[in-house]
Amino acid sequence: MGWSIKLFTLGGTAVRMHLTFLLLVAWIAAMQWRQGGAQSAVYGVVLILVLFACVVLHEFGHIFAARRYGIRTPDVTLLPIGGVASMERMPEKPAQEIVVALAGPAVNAVIAVVLIVALGLNVDPARMSMATIGASFWAQVAVANVVLLVFNLIPAFPMDGGRVLRAVLAMWLGFGRATKVAARIGQGLAIVFAILGFMGNPFLILIAAFIFLAAAGEAGQVQVRELTRGRDVTDAMITSFEALGVMSTVDDAAALLLRTTQQQFPVVDGASRLRGAVTRQAIVEALKGEDGGARPVLEVMTKDVPTVPLGTHLDVAVGLMQRSSARMVGVVDNTGNFVGYITPENISELMQIRSSREVRSAGWLRG
Ligand SMILES: [Zn+2]
Repeated sequence: MGWSIKLFTLGGTAVRMHLTFLLLVAWIAAMQWRQGGAQSAVYGVVLILVLFACVVLHEFGHIFAARRYGIRTPDVTLLPIGGVASMERMPEKPAQEIVVALAGPAVNAVIAVVLIVALGLNVDPARMSMATIGASFWAQVAVANVVLLVFNLIPAFPMDGGRVLRAVLAMWLGFGRATKVAARIGQGLAIVFAILGFMGNPFLILIAAFIFLAAAGEAGQVQVRELTRGRDVTDAMITSFEALGVMSTVDDAAALLLRTTQQQFPVVDGASRLRGAVTRQAIVEALKGEDGGARPVLEVMTKDVPTVPLGTHLDVAVGLMQRSSARMVGVVDNTGNFVGYITPENISELMQIRSSREVRSAGWLRG
């Protein structure tokens, strides 16, 4: 996630703030200033910062619950629409996913209850509105936590309520199918949010767009995982390709770029060891520079290309590719010789081939 700055680290998780979050703070300060001057602006900014502290605590509810199942979370980012925790993976056991999903809203429930008890408020749902108890800062925080709790439990995958829905569906449908159904429901609800948003709340439109894209993204990831599970790297790797040598120049790479349809080229030394990879983009960039064409590819290639031995499970290799900055994973035989590689493009080709075959063999079932 670009455009964000690190605030602090807690329990191995970096808390980052996206720069657009500052726009939200500035917008609230300006709105409040217009209504009630400097004092009102300070009040609004302090309130929004306290609310986002509650959002961070909500995310840490998820993070600490996930850690119980051995899942680490490298960072959590504050966006104007809320917090996004980047967990290494989501638990696939439905019961575990439910615990992790509910741990976030549970934090808001605890905050709300503590504040309500401390303030001695009359817990009457009819009176729980900004208008009636708007006078008290902490009462507003309590109400906002109730809103956060209820909003996150709406079953719009990948929001928390949607994750609970997916986990419940997964008990009957299996993980892949359950994700597809939950993602569809999430996207349907996102459209409803967007319509409501256009009727008055611009933030709802942002949230709707986020849910819509995130649902599609997660459904896609799950599809890749379902596809790659139980397969071997040899089922998907590219074995027919052009490679560059350690003495090759950027001009040689550019010539290969024209002659082939490859988007990246492995750099292999005389002993058949993979030394790195040059992407199309790196070649184009290098040509723009001074003595670009004459530069050795060793200078412009990505050096840290992960490699896996033959026989590695495809899901492991794809996971490695997704986490590394290089857009490929090399495959080596038992003597360390480079024999092939995997790219995001050929994984998506594999998916297309498989779904075409499925449609042909079971077309009538899908209607
Ligand atoms: Zn949550």
